[in-house]
Amino acid sequence: MRLLKSLHQHITPTGIYAVVICLAGAAIFGYTNKGSFLQYSSLEWVTVYSMLGAVLILEYFTFQLPPASNKQSMDSSVYLACIFVHGSEIAIFILLLTSVIAAIRDYKLSWWKHFINFSIYALSIFSAASVFQWVGGSQGPLNDGYIAAYVLSMLSYFAVNTFTLGLYFYLAYEGSLKQLRRAFVAESLLVYLCTLILSLVLTVLIYHNGILGLVLFLGLSMLLSHAFKKLFDMFRDVEEKSIMDRRTGLYNHSYFENSLESELRTARKDKLPLSLALIDIDDFKKFNDQFGHLKGDQLLGFLGNLLKKETEKTSITASRYGGEEFTLLMPGYSAEQAYEVVNRIRKKLNDSHYEGVEIFPHGCLSFSAGISEYQAGIYDKSQLVDQADKALYYAKRQGKNAVHLSGSYNETEREIDLAQDIRDIEQQLTLFLYKDINAFKHSKRVFKYAMDISEVLGLGQEDKRGFVLGALIHDIGKLEIPWDIMNKKEKLTPEEWRLVKGHVTWGRRIVEANERFEELIPFIELHHERYDGTGYPYGFAGDEIPRLCRMLTIIDSFDAMTTERPYQRTKTFEQALNELRACSGTQFDPELTRIFIRYIKDSHLSSPYIRSLQ
Ligand code: GH3
Ligand code: MG
Ligand code: MG
Repeated sequence: MRLLKSLHQHITPTGIYAVVICLAGAAIFGYTNKGSFLQYSSLEWVTVYSMLGAVLILEYFTFQLPPASNKQSMDSSVYLACIFVHGSEIAIFILLLTSVIAAIRDYKLSWWKHFINFSIYALSIFSAASVFQWVGGSQGPLNDGYIAAYVLSMLSYFAVNTFTLGLYFYLAYEGSLKQLRRAFVAESLLVYLCTLILSLVLTVLIYHNGILGLVLFLGLSMLLSHAFKKLFDMFRDVEEKSIMDRRTGLYNHSYFENSLESELRTARKDKLPLSLALIDIDDFKKFNDQFGHLKGDQLLGFLGNLLKKETEKTSITASRYGGEEFTLLMPGYSAEQAYEVVNRIRKKLNDSHYEGVEIFPHGCLSFSAGISEYQAGIYDKSQLVDQADKALYYAKRQGKNAVHLSGSYNETEREIDLAQDIRDIEQQLTLFLYKDINAFKHSKRVFKYAMDISEVLGLGQEDKRGFVLGALIHDIGKLEIPWDIMNKKEKLTPEEWRLVKGHVTWGRRIVEANERFEELIPFIELHHERYDGTGYPYGFAGDEIPRLCRMLTIIDSFDAMTTERPYQRTKTFEQALNELRACSGTQFDPELTRIFIRYIKDSHLSSPYIRSLQ
């Protein structure tokens, strides 16, 4: 019963194929050799032993071919030469002895695999010998008249060998037909030719010089094998240099891009998880500034080493993405599993002793990381990088030295985040309450306009955050303007004007002190630039000024025109819009001016309540 069950388990196409091949191999041996080895003369035994030695030596001294490090053994040339000189009977007997030695050497491989291997080679030898005879070749010295026979015999040897072996792998490992075809043609043509020439040379040498000829042949093959190996090592060396980053010892950016692409393909095809971690050293600039770039480079090497050590013996590939940013490509890891790994490495880095770490805010080496995971629908590698980058950015904003998963922060969380940022900036603005209440109110109104305009422009979360916070904080530098100038009712002197204009630069310095709001700097520094390039502090024009800064200039000016202030004439909304129109193209971006005017008309001028305020 058990026998039946086990038989049943083996009745698969591969099983049937293996049995057929083995039966054919055994039959060929029986038919070709017919036990004649029992009557070999001592001379024939010498031939067998020396040929066997040659096969074993050639199996060891292979020819290594780039790029995939395929090791081509030239032992087939010995079988072919044996067929050409002595016939298939001795060739098959040598094959049997080689297979027995292989079975003893690789005893862990199951016996039937050795049997299949023997049978496939037996079939190849048999077909080569048959074709050789069939097209008129006969055993003995090399004969120019038999060239066609030699070539056809060799072709049939390789055709049978590659086909039977290829079909076996195709059935056993469910490979594709494309692989089968590649095995047949691409890599092997050169090898076929090489083997044929070698077998013919060997034929001459054996026939005329016997063992001495064989020894000469082997000596040459061994030297060639050595030369090939050297060449291959050189190839490896060059290849390695082109994919490695020397500073960190990790893979470089282009290698990362290539492997990301192929891992994504695999993940999509095999439905396997794939995660990507983007790592950025925290406050690396501080370290560079303090200790110099050389020490900075050493620190990069230190982290490279750690990443390498922590990821070896895993499927993870660590690369230097650029600058002080690194990637971990993690096939087989879900986002949560990736988080565990990256967070463990982060803690390890925190605990690593390193000279000079006291200058870091956390008092230790640290990095922030964002992790994204492949999901259906991701069709481009940049999407995965982008998601990881956003998560990394979020980790930075939360105070650094943290790992975040892409999407783990939802929109509400971001809104809460934004609300917190707004509160923090408002806190700073309260200083205006004693210095210039109008500046305080102006900032709040400009902020409200910016919130509305964010909707009108359909800004994404990140842009919106920058824009509205920038609007709220844009005049923060006015805190530095002396109280009497700030509240002066008379015309300002040129020197006083210089001080007022300085608020954009003061503002920049105030915000620079707190890295959290660094990305708001353009709004503070550039909101007095003009579209035609006549503004300050830089005199940037057109696209040189970021788009949202150009919009802030419009809002800022509009609010300044329409705000009620003592001793100042205030424009109505209509008048202010006319002024915007008049200055469109010179002071203001025309396209954005149009958008703003439409917004004011739609949202404010159509409301009877607002109109009554005018
Ligand atoms: P954080 O990421 O925490 O926001 O701060 P950071 O200081 O690390 O920020 P940022 O990404 O702006 O600075 C990266 C710095 O890395 C800027 C550059 O001087 C430095 N850097 C980039 N590549 C190298 C390099 O190969 N060697 C050295 N020494 N420094 C580098
Ligand atoms: Mg960086
Ligand atoms: Mg950094």
